[in-house]
Amino acid sequence: KSFEDLGLDERIRRGLSTMNFRKPSKVQERALPLLMSNPAKNLIGQSQSGTGKTAAFVLNVLSRLDLSTPEMQNSPQALILAPTRELARQIVGVIQVMGQFLDGLIIGTAVPADSNARVSKMECSVVVGTPGTVQDLIKKRAMVPTRLKVLVLDEADNMLDQQGLGDQCIRAKAMIPRDVQIVLFSATFPTHVYRYAVKFAPEANEITL
Ligand code: AMP
Repeated sequence: KSFEDLGLDERIRRGLSTMNFRKPSKVQERALPLLMSNPAKNLIGQSQSGTGKTAAFVLNVLSRLDLSTPEMQNSPQALILAPTRELARQIVGVIQVMGQFLDGLIIGTAVPADSNARVSKMECSVVVGTPGTVQDLIKKRAMVPTRLKVLVLDEADNMLDQQGLGDQCIRAKAMIPRDVQIVLFSATFPTHVYRYAVKFAPEANEITL
C-alpha cells in the first residue's frame, strides 16, 4: 500500500516525500485507515518507538484540520500531549516538515517556559505540549479548546503511569469537548496502564504490532 492508497492529501504526501518516506511503515498501514475513518473512532495503539508511530498520529491530525479560514487556522483543532518538553519539540519538528505545504497551518508549543516569560496565547491550529502546561493554559483561557477534534497521547505508558502526569492528562481531558477522537500510543501496555487507557479512550479500536 502507498500513502496515496491510504487517502492522504496530495499536499501532505509532498511533505512526506521531502522526508524520503516512500511507503507506509507497518504501524502506519494498520493505524491510518482506523484513525482516518469517519465517524472518527478512538484508537489505542501499541508500537515500539522507531516503528513510525509519530507519523501515524501526525498524518491523521493533519488530515483532519480545517484551515479554510483565518479563524479556523487560529483555533486549536488538535492537541498532542507528550511527557517531556524535548519530545513535544520533536513532534513539533515532524509536524513542521510534514505540514509544510498546508497553507495556514499554525503550530503552537505548550511546554514549561525556560524563563518567566509571559504565557503566550495558543492561537494556532495544532497544539503540542506537556499536560501540566496545557491544562494551565486552558484554565487561564490562553487556550480555548472548543474546536478540538483530536487528542493524542504519545508515550501513554509514561504518562498514565506517573501519578502527576496521569492526573494532568485526565484533568486536561475533562476541559475539552466530549466528542474528540482520542488516540493513545504506547510502547507497552502493562495491565494497570491498559486499565487507564481503556477508560481514557473508551470503545477504541486497538492495534498491537
Ligand atoms: P518513530 O517511531 O515515530 O519514532 O519513528 C522512527 C523513525 O522512522 C523516524 O526517524 C522517522 O523519520 C522514520 N520513519 C517513520 N515512518 C517512516 C516511513 N514510512 N518511511 C521511512 N521512514 C519512516
